[in-house]
Amino acid sequence: MKILAINDDGVYAPGLWAVVEALQDVAEVVVVAPDREQSGVGTAITLSRPIRATEVVPLVDGIKTYAVEGTPADSAILALESLVEGPVDLVVSGINQGSNMGNDVFISGTMGAALQGFFRGIPTIAISVAALKNLHFAPAARVARLLAQGVADGKLVPPLLLNINLPNVPLEKIKGVSLTHLGQRTYMDVVKEGDDGRRKYYWITRERPGWVLEKGLDIWAVRRRRISITPIHTDLTSNTISREIRGLTRDIRQAFRP
Ligand code: MN
Repeated sequence: MKILAINDDGVYAPGLWAVVEALQDVAEVVVVAPDREQSGVGTAITLSRPIRATEVVPLVDGIKTYAVEGTPADSAILALESLVEGPVDLVVSGINQGSNMGNDVFISGTMGAALQGFFRGIPTIAISVAALKNLHFAPAARVARLLAQGVADGKLVPPLLLNINLPNVPLEKIKGVSLTHLGQRTYMDVVKEGDDGRRKYYWITRERPGWVLEKGLDIWAVRRRRISITPIHTDLTSNTISREIRGLTRDIRQAFRP
């Protein structure tokens, strides 16, 4: 069995190596990750120039490791289409420093990389710890290891994309595990305006978000010190077709009547 470990925090981020360490005796692990931090670049891919990948020194002995001069999604594509020999059985994206809950999945580089695995029919997990400093990686690494074992035992089969978030607490403080839905933020990023002495600038700033704290949502689980596991699919089609949309569609149909 072969596992691709990837992230958006850069090839030497501690979370990546915490998960590699936990996975190395379950399967052969190959690391392909951006050469620098790329949080928030989402699903971006580089089409305007060629990309270089350099084999670099691993932080865990014997792990083939590449640093990619590109985005997390670039790294995943390079890994799965070219760098890694033979089929990949599991893609693990993380362990990310910072939560990826609710609408974050649309801007998360961790998810951007994970999606490339999912799109190729490979079981994929994105895994994040909800803190930016003094991170406890051990519980997340253990979850990744258990899931990797599930894939090895044939219990987890594609299509499979799991978005996992953990509270930043040590193992003994984890209160449980919840299967969750994506949460909703109550407001978005803000813009701070400034002046560098020559020109005005705008700085997009991530405010501490407000959340809807309904039971069963990812944020609900993490706030209760539970591990949140959200199964993700990529059919964004809405089930609700309002009367207004029906009316508009009728008007458009009318306009195109021959
Ligand atoms: Mn990140």
